[in-house]
Amino acid sequence: MDGTSDSGAAGRCGTAREALGAYAIGALEPEEYGPISCHLVACPACRAELAELAKVAELLSALRPVTRVDRHTGAGEPSSRCAGRARSLDERPPA
Ligand SMILES: [Zn+2]
Repeated sequence: MDGTSDSGAAGRCGTAREALGAYAIGALEPEEYGPISCHLVACPACRAELAELAKVAELLSALRPVTRVDRHTGAGEPSSRCAGRARSLDERPPA
């Protein structure tokens, strides 16, 4: 018995692992989150896998700021600079 993927919860691991990448970057279909989340609760191995994938996903999102939707570091926040520029424009009398 090698027990790779045919016994109970281990079988669901295969499905979960396939979806973990999408899960980590939030690209999973909404109805897929439930089953995967349930499996993660019951499966420390997949939780560890997800933790690794989440690190990679975070690195990727840091490399590509366009995809960064849920994290606000405030480091690149241009709003104050924009506000100052808008005010100086506003103070300038219209020609
Ligand atoms: Zn699992």
